[in-house]
Amino acid sequence: MRKVNILIFQLLLFLSPYLLSADGHIFVYHRFDDNRYPTTNISTKTLRAEFNYLKKHNYKVVPLSDIVNKIKKGEKVPDSWVAFTIDDGFKSFYTNGLPVFREYGYPFTLFVAVKYTEEKYKDYVSWKQLENIAKYGSLEFHSYGHGHFGRMSSEQIKADMDKGLKLMKEHLNYEPRFFVYPYGEYDNRVENIIKSYGFQAVFNQNMGAVNGECTNAYDVDRSAVVGSNSRDFKLYLKFKELCGVHFVKPASFPKDKVVKTVEINLDDKSIKSADIFISNNGWHKVKVKNGKIVYHANKRVNRDRIKIGVKVKSKIKLMVLSK
Ligand SMILES: [Zn+2]
Repeated sequence: MRKVNILIFQLLLFLSPYLLSADGHIFVYHRFDDNRYPTTNISTKTLRAEFNYLKKHNYKVVPLSDIVNKIKKGEKVPDSWVAFTIDDGFKSFYTNGLPVFREYGYPFTLFVAVKYTEEKYKDYVSWKQLENIAKYGSLEFHSYGHGHFGRMSSEQIKADMDKGLKLMKEHLNYEPRFFVYPYGEYDNRVENIIKSYGFQAVFNQNMGAVNGECTNAYDVDRSAVVGSNSRDFKLYLKFKELCGVHFVKPASFPKDKVVKTVEINLDDKSIKSADIFISNNGWHKVKVKNGKIVYHANKRVNRDRIKIGVKVKSKIKLMVLSK
C-alpha cells in the first residue's frame, strides 16, 4: 500500500510541470547551412545544439497537428510541447536540415510556396523531393506565388490560392489543412478570404507561445529561429501567451507611418501595469486602468509591417498591421 502511494507521489512529481503550466512553442526555420542569407538561415551545428537542449530538458517534439487539436478543443498545450515548421521549401532543408530531423526522429511540417517548386527555381525542392520529405514530416500550404497579400486584390489572392491548392492536389494528392501567410502579412480582408478555404489552422510569424485555451486558430504564433548560436532559442522558450487581449487601436496600418494611439483591452481587470511594444520603438511601460490601456504613443515606424505587442509580467501577445 505504502509502496503504491510512493509510486503515485513520484508520478505526480513527474507530471506536475505538465499539469500546472500550459504554453507550447512552435518554431519556424527557413534555410539550413546557407550563409548567403543570414536572416533566414540556421547552421545545422546550431540546430543540433537546439535539439540537444530540448532532449536534455525533456521537451516533447510533437507533430503540429497535435498542437492544433488542443487549440481546436480549447485545451491547454503543455509547456513541454514543441512543434517545428519550415517555410517556403528551400533545397537546403532537403539537403542539410532534413537529415538532422531524421537523426533525432523529430516530426516537422513544411509549408510549401508552390510556385518555386512548380517552376523549378534553383534554390527550391522538386515535387519528387517533396514526396520524399512527406515520408518523414507533413506538407502544408504557403500560397502559390508567395506574394504580399495585403497589396493584392481579393481576386488575385483567390486566384493564387486556387492555383497552389490545385497543384498540391495534382502532384501530392493532398488537400492542405494548415496555411501560413506569405511574409506573415495579413489584415481583416486577407484573413476573411483565407477563412473561406476552411483550413483547420492558420499561422503567423509573431514571436510567442501557444496557450491553447485562448489561442485563435486563425492566428497562431510561431517564433523564428535564426543565427549561429542557440541563446535566442532558449530565450524564446520562456515566453508565454498572454490571454484575454483585445487590440482596438490602431485598427489598420497608419498611412503616415505614425502610430498615434495604442488602445488595448484586457479581460483581467486586476492588471495594473503592462509594457507596450511598437516596431522600431521597443518596449514602453504603461498603466492599465480597469483592464484598459490607452497609450498616446506618436511613434514613427519605418517599415511596411508594424508589430504591436503587450506584455504583462513574462506573458506577451503580438499583432501585426500590414500596409
Ligand atoms: Zn515564406
